[in-house]
Amino acid sequence: MRLSRYFLPVLKETPSEAQIVSHRLMLRAGLIKQASAGIYSWLPFGYKVLRRIEQIVHEEQIRAGHLPMLMPTIQSADLWRESGRYDAYGAEMLRITDRHDRDMLFTPTAEELITDIFRAHVTSYKDLPLTMYQIQWKFRDEIRPRFGVMRGREFYMKDGYNFDLTKEDALHAYNRHLVSYLRTYERMGLQAIPMRADSGPIGGDDTHEFLVLAETGESEVFYDSEITDLRFGDREIDYDDRAQCQGVLEEFTSRYARTDETHDPELFAKIPAERQRVARGIEVGQIFYFGTKYSEPMGAMVDDGKGNRVPVHMGSHGIGVSRLVGAIIEASHDDKGIVWPEGVTPFHVGIVNLKQGDAACDGACEGLYKAFVAKGLEPLYDDREERAGAKFATMDLIGLPWRITVGPRGLGAGVVELTCRRTGASEELSPEAAVARVA
Ligand code: ATP
Ligand code: MG
Ligand code: MG
Ligand code: MG
Repeated sequence: MRLSRYFLPVLKETPSEAQIVSHRLMLRAGLIKQASAGIYSWLPFGYKVLRRIEQIVHEEQIRAGHLPMLMPTIQSADLWRESGRYDAYGAEMLRITDRHDRDMLFTPTAEELITDIFRAHVTSYKDLPLTMYQIQWKFRDEIRPRFGVMRGREFYMKDGYNFDLTKEDALHAYNRHLVSYLRTYERMGLQAIPMRADSGPIGGDDTHEFLVLAETGESEVFYDSEITDLRFGDREIDYDDRAQCQGVLEEFTSRYARTDETHDPELFAKIPAERQRVARGIEVGQIFYFGTKYSEPMGAMVDDGKGNRVPVHMGSHGIGVSRLVGAIIEASHDDKGIVWPEGVTPFHVGIVNLKQGDAACDGACEGLYKAFVAKGLEPLYDDREERAGAKFATMDLIGLPWRITVGPRGLGAGVVELTCRRTGASEELSPEAAVARVA
């Protein structure tokens, strides 16, 4: 992409309404624009990040054996009356009446709708286990939308639902989700710690939230500092291997890590004092096992192979896809701007031409551009007639992992400058060597 043809409405002023750094940087770097309170347009640059995050979520869910699908955002209230949540959900639910005076709503989550799909088609244990998920817009009329996309009213969420014959099978599904989530967040360059949590309006006893530690997080968290040494890494995982998945769950949840809702000061006090941590975190996902909470009232039953009709055991599993954009920036920025982790960066490398219109510089930039494209990478070429300082400031603000600077002096010596955004370190290399380093 050439910056001269792109839409990157960078703001010079720091927007006064933004209280936290990720919100400020998302506005300043032209990722989003507020449409109304808690509702945002995703501009081309922000949309690219959102899509990359979504893609990682898809890949890891499919790897775990879960089936992608898509349900509507507008749902009939009738299903929600069956589960009892139409009244229970309260003011967070956006209720809509259509022209025939039918009660509709904008989905805040989708347990009812997926259970309705299940009961219409599945009647036998032979069709289990089954896990389906979607990545779809949700709406919750949050009392205090704030921090940009972190607490929006409209937000993009992955929600997955497992259907199993027994509690044991459903807990395996729970463990699969835990493992796939660990992989998902690590691919985004994030450490998200599973913490024992409260189930809220979804219901159920077994639940973990995934939290990214950050001062601006809305949750208070208590944990044993040893937990921050754990990494999933690139270990091989067989999602059908129950013992292996259970082993990962135990490894990542055996140390104390809880949100304020489930915090137990007595247990916490037993951790050696130097390892006790009280901090703040951003909830980027949550997994639930809730058994037959929806299958029973909604009649999602299967034949268990022994002549009984039994309600299926279920769980649901969410990832805050749009919130993650903010969470990643909270975890990865400096005073000049965003520092994208390689896994989610919207462009792999920025090319800065210090002398636009100079035949040698223009030619070298075009050559680099083509070389990156040939390697399957997406460069962003700043080909504007701008001062070097302005070009550098823009590149630092938008946070691409690598910058290549092309100027007449360097080219005279056969080199360009390659700069790493994270460390700030620069080196002079031939254009070919610079491409090879980035690729
Ligand atoms: P919170 O405690 O922040 O209100 P939640 O527990 O109500 O979130 P869940 O029902 O667990 O949310 O939804 C799954 C995920 O969706 C959350 O872990 C979070 O990452 C994301 N999410 C929830 N509410 C919002 C929101 N208002 N804006 C952006 N993302 C959200
Ligand atoms: Mg909430
Ligand atoms: Mg929560
Ligand atoms: Mg939650």
